[in-house]
Amino acid sequence: MSARLPELPDDPLAPEIQSAVARLALARRAGEIDRTREFPWTEFRGLGAAHLLGLRTAPERGGRGLSLPRVGTLLFRLAYLSGTTFAKMSLQPEFSSVLADHGSTALRQEWFDPMVRGERLIGNQITEPGAGSDAAAIRLAAERSGDGYVLTGEKSEVAFAEEAQGAIVYGVVPGAAGTGGPTAFLVPQDLPGISRQAGPGDLGEHWQRRGTVRYDRVHIPSSHRIGEEGEGYRYVRSELTRERALLAAVYLGVGRASWEETVRYVGERTAFGRPLAAQEAVAFPLVEDGAHLDAAWLFVHRTLERLEAGAPVDGDAAVAKWMATETALRAIDHAIQFHGGRGYSAAYPHEQRWRDVRSGHIAHGPAEIMHLVAARDLWPRRRTDPR
Ligand SMILES: Cc1cc2nc3c(=O)[nH]c(=O)nc-3n(C[C@H](O)[C@H](O)[C@H](O)COP(=O)(O)OP(=O)(O)OC[C@H]3O[C@@H](n4cnc5c(N)ncnc54)[C@H](O)[C@@H]3O)c2cc1C
Repeated sequence: MSARLPELPDDPLAPEIQSAVARLALARRAGEIDRTREFPWTEFRGLGAAHLLGLRTAPERGGRGLSLPRVGTLLFRLAYLSGTTFAKMSLQPEFSSVLADHGSTALRQEWFDPMVRGERLIGNQITEPGAGSDAAAIRLAAERSGDGYVLTGEKSEVAFAEEAQGAIVYGVVPGAAGTGGPTAFLVPQDLPGISRQAGPGDLGEHWQRRGTVRYDRVHIPSSHRIGEEGEGYRYVRSELTRERALLAAVYLGVGRASWEETVRYVGERTAFGRPLAAQEAVAFPLVEDGAHLDAAWLFVHRTLERLEAGAPVDGDAAVAKWMATETALRAIDHAIQFHGGRGYSAAYPHEQRWRDVRSGHIAHGPAEIMHLVAARDLWPRRRTDPR
């Protein structure tokens, strides 16, 4: 039984994504990196050289300057072709937009622009052992000292803990004005007093090599403060909204790949004398997954369009990430199931995709916090944290 599949979301730059995936062998490399747990520096530089990091970043900073709906469509395509790894890598400059939007010219030139070129990796350090979902509880101290600050405390669960050359670190400046929240700093990760430790090893997203970074009286000059004291969370809020909507596009691209491969597979694989697709118990869940993936994509695309137009869509972006993760996980789970015994093995990419996409219910805000953010749209109240 041959399968007839609906069109993929398209964009004039899609062929360029396709050729970069082929040239850099990204689909194969995603599987290798999952096994070796390395940070893929070669591919990071390769994507930078191809101007595929910072798709939204302004051209004068080395990016493409594309609109959010176009970036979402291209990330969908990249994830469809090669999984989460390189689509999320392409988003790294987006994850540093606090620096791009509020950092000094000197900081941007020294740190942000090289990241868009794939030459420097910048981590984001918000989470602490006592502050994750409740990000307002962070304690890392940033005491004023001479012309600068002294950082003391611990960041945990952070990506690229041992790998990043720099990190955007959120710390509490006693008596800071602004909105009274933490302050953002760009901290080179080789300063005296910083110690970095790998974590115990993650379920998926192995390339992110998460771990712990400790700050023991680390001196940082005022020139490394990003924007104003006490404004860090106000800055990061709009970044989080964009991140969530764009990550949703990544997860849906991955879900679509598993769904498509499974629709084809069950049309060909026979059991009990006929194709698996002839069994309603197999065909119906795949019909539902296709509909859910499509509907979720329309919602994500609409959210990106509204975000691009400047509409307040914090709630929709939160729903987008949660819904895309849920929808993709269900489709990938069916892919594992309908590929049978080998579906549960590394013979197919589905098991890695499931492990990688599963992070979507925790990273960048757990699913429950996404519901809280969306509930705030229905029953507005004052926000005290960045989530
Ligand atoms: C792959 C990955 C990459 C990450 N990268 C980074 C990074 O680069 N930088 C960084 O700073 N952090 C990073 N994190 C950390 C991430 O942001 C936190 O793990 C997340 O915010 C949850 O915080 P926590 O782990 O302290 O969980 P907790 O706050 O202890 O919460 C545990 C669970 O309790 C539930 N929960 C919590 N609060 C509520 C509530 N109010 N209502 C209902 N349920 C609730 C949720 O299910 C939540 O998952 C990463 C995490 C992952 C998985």
